[in-house]
Amino acid sequence: MTVQKMAHKDLMPYIQFFENNSIIMLLVNDENGKIINANLTAQKFYGYSKKEFLSKYVWDINSIGKERSLEKLKEHRRQGQLLVQDKHHLANGEIRDIELHTCRVQIGGKPVSYCIIHDVTERVKAEKQVNYMVYHDQLTGLPNRYALKEYIDQELILKQKIDKFAVLFIDLDRFKLINGTFGHSFGDLVLLEISNRLRGIFPENKVIFRYSGDEFLIVIKNTSEAKIIESTEKILEKFSYPFIINMREIFVSPSIGISMFPKDGESKETLIKNADIATQFAKGMGKNTYQFFSSDFERINSRKLGLESSLRNAVKNNEFMLCYQPQINLINREIVGVEALIRWKHPELGLISPNEFIPLAEETGLIIPIGNWVLKTACEQLKAWQMKNLPVNRVAINVSERQLQVQGFVQNVKEMLEQFGLKPEHLEIEITESIMHNTDEIEPVLKGLKDIGLRVSIDDFGTGYSSLSLLKHLPIDTLKIDQSFTKDLVIDSKATALVETIISMSESLNFEVVAEGVETEEQYSFLKRKNCRLGQGYLFSRPLNSEELLRHISG
Ligand code: C2E
Ligand code: MG
Ligand code: MG
Repeated sequence: MTVQKMAHKDLMPYIQFFENNSIIMLLVNDENGKIINANLTAQKFYGYSKKEFLSKYVWDINSIGKERSLEKLKEHRRQGQLLVQDKHHLANGEIRDIELHTCRVQIGGKPVSYCIIHDVTERVKAEKQVNYMVYHDQLTGLPNRYALKEYIDQELILKQKIDKFAVLFIDLDRFKLINGTFGHSFGDLVLLEISNRLRGIFPENKVIFRYSGDEFLIVIKNTSEAKIIESTEKILEKFSYPFIINMREIFVSPSIGISMFPKDGESKETLIKNADIATQFAKGMGKNTYQFFSSDFERINSRKLGLESSLRNAVKNNEFMLCYQPQINLINREIVGVEALIRWKHPELGLISPNEFIPLAEETGLIIPIGNWVLKTACEQLKAWQMKNLPVNRVAINVSERQLQVQGFVQNVKEMLEQFGLKPEHLEIEITESIMHNTDEIEPVLKGLKDIGLRVSIDDFGTGYSSLSLLKHLPIDTLKIDQSFTKDLVIDSKATALVETIISMSESLNFEVVAEGVETEEQYSFLKRKNCRLGQGYLFSRPLNSEELLRHISG
């Protein structure tokens, strides 16, 4: 029965209100789902004439089918109104997202349902887009950290009830340097290429996530340790090829930390945190490697956190001191200078090795105030020795990469020398060989130091990857042979050959050479025989505080 048949004079305004309304409206028999009227806007929207509508049921236009439609109608009869979100089919085959409000009314004593329909296709599309943006990384298109959190807790643990999976935390080694050296848009291209390489290994959806700037996370379901090792090695292998970006060839290596559900954590927070901790340990192992989480790490890490906070106060509280290790002329065993080595007297933990706190100071940026303190103290001490006419003519200080990156570093050194009335040749700067990968940035600073007359030496030589041609171009005075080679001298033929090469190479390039870590007479006489001019090590003296050094020299 149609509304027209039931029409009464009094109903006319309502009929017109229905027919001419700019909102899409349908009238439906909520007993059987038959469409009993459609206004002009509905006819235009769906592309059906009124006649065509009258032969249709709601499931002819909706996407939930007859059975669910009948259920909905039942619910509607019970509640009197409903709000439904659905997709409707138009005559031309198009599918639109709609929002449908229904209301049960009596017309001519018969219950019917008004359906007021809004086309929300554009809104749904916009929502989807916003949703996509919230859960995806713009640059790589990979799901991001928010997606990861929902995925682990909602999807894997709650919904799929997966009983074993692994979280691989990938942190790129020295990525800040790439950004700093070549710019962020270059860095972005590297990240994009990295995400493509990872996709090559894990083509499935929702496996790789971009967690933050240079951190990617990989979730592998139902896996064993052996399989994870296999995947991890595949990742490392993919990174072993250079990235060619803007005609430049660069190498990027990852450090990977792995945590397993449920062994290493039963929630996303713990799993991610522990994988991250394992990554830091992988980095500590020399980068470009992987590490499974171990509960021991937490203990070590909490020491690190504790040290970090007390390191902040250590400069203020005057907890550092410098020791000085003599550098010896190997021909006559006379002292030619000293290397200043920092010591931290922690109020509770006692003496802490620079090997432990210097990396922490570098990470946190505290190396800048600490380095300034070292520079000032060493200059002050040298001046004091000179006033006493002690035969110490030169002090070497160790300088970290981050200090060299500070604007005005050279000027700062110059002013410090002036403040204490020291000559520049009295000060030597030691930089480790490992920072030579960043020559573009380092070279001008080294040149600046050279220009004011300072000496520059390369510390721990042999452990990094400087090439000979590079050394020739840099303004360097001294190479310090790393103590690991000195230690194996005479015993190990490879170390012996390497030391010999470094000495003869230094001769031809006109570098001074210092052998570090000389502990035995055998090492000493070997070095002397090979014309190594300078040495440093326990055989001659341990690092000494200023009074001990005074006694050492006068005794
Ligand atoms: P380095 O500059 O290579 O210093 C030499 C290290 O070898 C010192 O360790 C020294 O005590 C040790 N050593 C010297 N002779 C011998 C020997 O015959 N046998 C053995 N086994 N070891 C010997 P230390 O003082 O623990 O310093 C470790 C590292 O910490 C230094 O290595 C240096 O890289 C860093 N460091 C020390 N002081 C500073 C500083 O003021 N600033 C910065 N940035 N780094 C520093
Ligand atoms: Mg040194
Ligand atoms: Mg060294």
